[in-house]
Amino acid sequence: MTYDAVPEYRGDGISVKNVGAVGGGDAFLIKAGSKAALLEAGFSFCAVKLLENLESELQGASLEYVLLTHSHYDHASGAYFIKRKWGDVKTAASAYAAKILTKPSALEVMREMNESAAGHFGWDKGEPMGAIDVDKQVAEGDIISLGGLTLTVMEAPGHTKCCLSFYIPEKKLLLSCETIGCIAGPGLVAPAYLVGYQMSVDYMKRLLDMDIEMLLMPHQGLIIGHEKCRALIGDALRSAELLKDLILEDHRRGRTLDEITKHYEEAFFTESLRKLQPPKAFYLNAGNLIPMVIKEFEK
Ligand SMILES: [Zn+2]
Repeated sequence: MTYDAVPEYRGDGISVKNVGAVGGGDAFLIKAGSKAALLEAGFSFCAVKLLENLESELQGASLEYVLLTHSHYDHASGAYFIKRKWGDVKTAASAYAAKILTKPSALEVMREMNESAAGHFGWDKGEPMGAIDVDKQVAEGDIISLGGLTLTVMEAPGHTKCCLSFYIPEKKLLLSCETIGCIAGPGLVAPAYLVGYQMSVDYMKRLLDMDIEMLLMPHQGLIIGHEKCRALIGDALRSAELLKDLILEDHRRGRTLDEITKHYEEAFFTESLRKLQPPKAFYLNAGNLIPMVIKEFEK
C-alpha cells in the first residue's frame, strides 16, 4: 500500500501539526483545547526557526509539555532551546533518556551529529545545545493529561532502549516512536531496530491488538483510517523480517559488514528516506544494527 502521511490534522477537540523547521527534525504540536504539547523537538541548528513556528502555531494555547520519544539528536536537541524560552514547559521522557540527555559524552555526540546534519541540510550550525533536564520521567502506563485528553505512555524499546510511544484512547491516536520504522516507499517501512530485533517486533505486534484510527509516524506525519494503520503495521512487520533475513543470509555467505551495509542501503535507504536522514546517520545506524541482528540470532 502507498502511504500518504499528512503533516496536519484538525479534529474535534484536537489538532496535530508538524512545526519542525526541516524534514528529519520534525516536531508535532498537539493542541487540545487551550493546552498544547510538542512531540519531539528536532535538531539544534534550526531551533530558532522551530521556536518561531511554534510560537505562531500556539495562538494563545499554553505549551505544557515537550514529549520526547527518545534521546536521539534529531528528536531531542531542540528541547534545550524550548525550555530556555518557555521555562514552565515540562520535558517528559523515560528515565533512561533523562540520564543520557545530561551525560557529557552523549551531549558531545549530539552536538557533533547536529553539526554534521546542519552541513547536510545547508544550514548554519547555530548555537550548540546544552544538557536537557527531563522534568517528568514517565514509564509504561503513566498518564499525561492534556486539555481533557489522556496520553498513555507505552514503553517501546527496540530503536533505542529509551523509546516511548503515547496513545490517546479518546481519539484512538497512537503517537509512535521510531521502533516502528519509517515509511520508505509503497509497502516498505525502513526498519530502525538498533538495540533489539525481537523487542521491536513485539512492539509492532502489540499495536495490532490496539484500537488505532490514527497513527503518527515519526518524521512523517499522520496515517488516518483503521485499515490503513493496520496495513502499515503489517508492512512494518514484514519489512523488519525482510531486513533481518537479508542480514543473516549475507552473514551466512561470509559477506563483510561493508558488503552487508551496501545491500541494506540498496534495499531500504530509498530516495524518500534520504530526505529525512543524512547518509552519515544511516551508516552509523547500520554499523550498530547489522552486528546487533547477527548477535541476537547467533546466541
Ligand atoms: Zn532515533
